[in-house]
Amino acid sequence: MRAYGSVEEALTDVLRLSRAMTYKAAGAGLPLGGGKAVILGDPAVVKSDALLEAYGRAVDSLGGTYVTAEDVGTTVEDMVVIARRTTHVSGLPVEIGGSGDPSPATAHGVLAAMRATAEHLWGSDVLSGRTVAIQGVGKVGSVLAGLLVEKGCDVVIADVDTAAVASLVSEFGVRSVPAAEILETPCDILAPCALGAVLNPGTIPRLSCGAVVGAANNQLLGPEDAGRLAAAGILYTPDFIANAGGIINIVEELGDRQYSWVRALRAVERIYDTTGEVLRRARREGTTTATAATAHAEDRLKAAGAAR
Ligand code: NAD
Repeated sequence: MRAYGSVEEALTDVLRLSRAMTYKAAGAGLPLGGGKAVILGDPAVVKSDALLEAYGRAVDSLGGTYVTAEDVGTTVEDMVVIARRTTHVSGLPVEIGGSGDPSPATAHGVLAAMRATAEHLWGSDVLSGRTVAIQGVGKVGSVLAGLLVEKGCDVVIADVDTAAVASLVSEFGVRSVPAAEILETPCDILAPCALGAVLNPGTIPRLSCGAVVGAANNQLLGPEDAGRLAAAGILYTPDFIANAGGIINIVEELGDRQYSWVRALRAVERIYDTTGEVLRRARREGTTTATAATAHAEDRLKAAGAAR
């Protein structure tokens, strides 16, 4: 849910997001297609129970071919309101049998992708002693920071929200730099966990990292930025492979079984293998990692189409 400038802008965004969702689900081997919905409007101004219930009715009219969940501008609590009008809603609170906020699962998935990336690049998946710079310590970045500290990493964080930075610095003793400096901070792994399009012709020459592994969606501004990263000697682990933990967690809620965090975490851990597979494919086929990830997802889509 966002204050889009126009209906066209919203339509462009929802098509781009649903395509990314398709690749994310296929890349993670999930039994899902891809779909996304957008609600036009500033959540702080126009969000109401009536609006969310109307959205719930719209989702319900699709008869279960689309299942909604929280994302930018919506919360776990909003899903409860939507659930008054449809059963095709996920990411419900844990107290009522849902899987709750997907962000911790996303953070665990990014960590698994980082370990696999380290293994590929440096021959060991042990992260202890590695410097990791996190751009954005919101719902995903803050959990990731804690997990990396536990692993013995030297963690550097930045966020435009200075209160969020201060709280993590005091909780975990991590270092911080101003938001404008995080991309050029020398580190082993850069983890974009704030915005899309952070990897672009303007930023790539300034990066001072060995690898990029983060949660943000659509990190490359354009497809040619994958080549720019490779030419700069930076290993890019494609975003939709690294950040699939949230959707993997939600799939655990959709089945008939009672949701279990332990089982979800086990499923999220498979991102380690998927990441390794994609990085090795790129090396083997002499392509960028972005091309290899797309090919990996398209293979699964083709196989699903053939099975049908
Ligand atoms: P969030 O809104 O909780 O956190 C984003 C943080 O980035 C905020 O603290 C914000 O202040 C900060 N930020 C914004 N601009 C910044 C800048 N220029 N420099 C530094 N910090 C900046 O969002 P989130 O749920 O943590 O998600 C982070 C990213 O990961 C988003 O791109 C999201 O689409 C993607 N993602 C999230 C999930 C999930 O489970 N939450 C799953 C997949 C992908």
